[in-house]
Amino acid sequence: MSTIWVLGAGQLGAMLHDAAAALDLDVRPIDIESDQQLEIKEADIVTAEREQWPETLVTRQLSANSNFVNKAIFGRLADRLTQKQILDDLNIATSPWRAVEDSTRAEDLYTALGDKVLLKRRTGGYDGRGQHWLSADQNDEIPEGWHNACIAEQKIPFEDEVSVVGVRNAEGEKVFYPLSLNLHVNGILMGTLAPVKRNAAHQAQGENMLGTLMDSLDYVGVMAMECFRVGNDLMVNEVAPRVHNSGHWSLTGSEISQFEYHLRAVANLPTPAAVTIGPSAMVNLIGTDYVEAWRSVPGADVYWYNKEVRAGRKVGHINFCDSDSIQLEASLRTLEKLLPENYSEVIDWLVDNLS
Ligand code: AMP
Repeated sequence: MSTIWVLGAGQLGAMLHDAAAALDLDVRPIDIESDQQLEIKEADIVTAEREQWPETLVTRQLSANSNFVNKAIFGRLADRLTQKQILDDLNIATSPWRAVEDSTRAEDLYTALGDKVLLKRRTGGYDGRGQHWLSADQNDEIPEGWHNACIAEQKIPFEDEVSVVGVRNAEGEKVFYPLSLNLHVNGILMGTLAPVKRNAAHQAQGENMLGTLMDSLDYVGVMAMECFRVGNDLMVNEVAPRVHNSGHWSLTGSEISQFEYHLRAVANLPTPAAVTIGPSAMVNLIGTDYVEAWRSVPGADVYWYNKEVRAGRKVGHINFCDSDSIQLEASLRTLEKLLPENYSEVIDWLVDNLS
């Protein structure tokens, strides 16, 4: 049996590993700092749980494998500048942006993009990190060290944040989940609902956008596209060439989870359309200690990543899937009492947006 090596051993790698049992696959997440000498066979497959990695003993070994699926794509999507260029070339709507070069002045950005401009580091930024707002009213300047290292984006007055998560296999067949409706607080995903009635009108548009991108890259596996919704239009915020936090609800709410889809696609197994079991809600656990009582909340499917708890760190998530919205609401309210105070905003948002 060939092995599927996963570059990275965080929670995404662990969930890929867990999904392997149902498919009888041998999946091995590898910590990028490991000093292991890996016994990679020629027929083995390599995939990644992250879009960027440093050169280390093991990443060099994994990168050398000729079956590293999507290998050439990671770097192009991990750099926001090239990601934006790819989207523009494909006419996929994205938040208006400008490159920030040596000669770029803040004034140029205000003229091109408006009074509020968001600088985003080209690489390495995530969960709202690596961002810096500029305001024309304050005469803000581009900070030192940001030239050539970031792009500038227009401030989008979005009504919703949604994501499109889909899978494409080597034959080019694609399957998409119902769009996720997401709540971010301070740049971090805190809650997701899927499917949501008001997203249905944007499903075809989202599938078309992500499908166009995956086809053009000849991508194989799960990809996630985070979008802003403004009126009837979706606009890409960012794209992740991997399984994604906004697809975690699929572990409970879909017959085939995003992790299983990803493995099926990279291992060349069938990727049939999955049945969505029912309306799902996901609560992300950020920088909060483990509470055993979460597991007594009716319907709660608790995923704890066994990571050291630090402020702002993703340490787990809790899924619910229930077609009885009254029960789902009651469970979310029970959970609220077992979470830190700042979660009231998240639970309120989930309850308000349940169809
Ligand atoms: P990102 O790290 O790009 O996913 O951004 C994190 C969060 O910052 C997003 O989920 C939005 O809530 C917010 N954000 C990012 N880009 C913009 C933008 N151009 N305009 C307004 N808000 C944004």
